[in-house]
Amino acid sequence: MSELPISIDKDLCTGCGICVGACPFGSIEMVGDYPEIKDDCRLCNACVEACPEGAITIKETEGEADLSEYRGVMVYAEQRKGVVHPVAYELLGKGRELADQLGEPLFAVLIGSDVKAGAEELAVRSADKVYTYEDPALEDFRDDPYSALMADLVREVKPSLFLIGATSIGRSLGPKLAAVLATGLTADCTGLEIDPETRLLLQTRPAYGGNIMATIICPNSRPQMATVRYKMMKEADVDQDRKGEIVKKPVDMEALPDRVKIIDYQPSPEQVNIVDAEIVVSGGKGLGEPSGFAVIEELAQALGGAVGASRPTVDEGWKEYRHQVGLSGRTVRPKLYMACGISGAVQHLAGMKTSDVIIAINKDREAPIFSVSTLGAVGDLYEVIPILAEKVRKHKGDA
Ligand SMILES: Cc1cc2nc3c(=O)[nH]c(=O)nc-3n(C[C@H](O)[C@H](O)[C@H](O)COP(=O)(O)OP(=O)(O)OC[C@H]3O[C@@H](n4cnc5c(N)ncnc54)[C@H](O)[C@@H]3O)c2cc1C
Repeated sequence: MSELPISIDKDLCTGCGICVGACPFGSIEMVGDYPEIKDDCRLCNACVEACPEGAITIKETEGEADLSEYRGVMVYAEQRKGVVHPVAYELLGKGRELADQLGEPLFAVLIGSDVKAGAEELAVRSADKVYTYEDPALEDFRDDPYSALMADLVREVKPSLFLIGATSIGRSLGPKLAAVLATGLTADCTGLEIDPETRLLLQTRPAYGGNIMATIICPNSRPQMATVRYKMMKEADVDQDRKGEIVKKPVDMEALPDRVKIIDYQPSPEQVNIVDAEIVVSGGKGLGEPSGFAVIEELAQALGGAVGASRPTVDEGWKEYRHQVGLSGRTVRPKLYMACGISGAVQHLAGMKTSDVIIAINKDREAPIFSVSTLGAVGDLYEVIPILAEKVRKHKGDA
């Protein structure tokens, strides 16, 4: 279905089959005397390098695309079991802003089994057009069919920008789609802007282990693709008066590559999800020792929240990585973030400063965390937290 920019010159090919063995993805097979490249090729270049006759070439499209043909911002609306992931609404929020700046339309694409309700929601969350692909066989995400459908849509609609959430699904889908479209992708962006002079997308992300923020552009190919961290952008609001059009696209499953079969889902037994929690209580080096997390857990439990941690406590093995908040950990945006014994280094703030309410407990009144806090308590956390937890429990009991 998809036409990849890779080809085999049959005049040069001797049918030796070396490329078949060289392909790490099993995407080349012998058909008769000659090899054939399948649609799921990742354009990794292994076969090009392996071919002794130089018969395989990947067409460089950089610089060739007529960039003026590309207009609009397209957002991939990830869904799980029919429910649109909130990162899609965040992408629409940012996408609307970028599209308005460019004076171009905003599109969303939704693929799944039962997508009607999701499409309606996207249409009232500022998408001008929502493209849907619906089929029972598309219920669960798989790289092959999803990226093939999206590649075809991009070739048809020609958006200038393409945004994907940097979730586990987005991190798998984004690079595959970018390779198929022979364009660039900036992964894990924390900021997106339009350069008013060049109209290019300025894609900002931490680089060199978070020591610098790099701004990346994609001047010669389209679309300009980025995956964007969840909880970094503000969700698009619902506006019933401004409803976008829903365009149902045909699906022919037979024509789509599809190598993976989902047999079963086993949810992780680990229930910690600091990213989605409405309340996060985090502990830092000020706890002094690993057992100090007991007071953090006590307060989190009283408030019904999740436990977060600063990086040094994770590095020291006091808490697992999944609890880490910050530049090299998770980004959170809860209604309430409590920083206990955390100094407020920029790398920590990068992961929590957009929380609605921030309360800091620190015995150093000069600690930088107080500069971003809504409320602060200067004191020893081992004195403050038990009193606070008791008050919360009492309040809940009273209620
Ligand atoms: C590339 C890079 C990426 C990084 N990524 C991250 C990241 O993702 N997340 C992250 O958190 N950091 C990250 N860091 C580390 C960051 O720079 C800081 O070192 C770290 O955030 C400090 O953690 P902390 O606040 O727990 O410890 P400290 O800076 O040591 O602060 C401890 C605080 O506790 C207070 N305190 C001490 N005892 C008590 C007490 N009994 N009661 C109350 N307060 C007390 C102290 O006054 C102090 O303010 C990164 C650094 C780099 C270079």
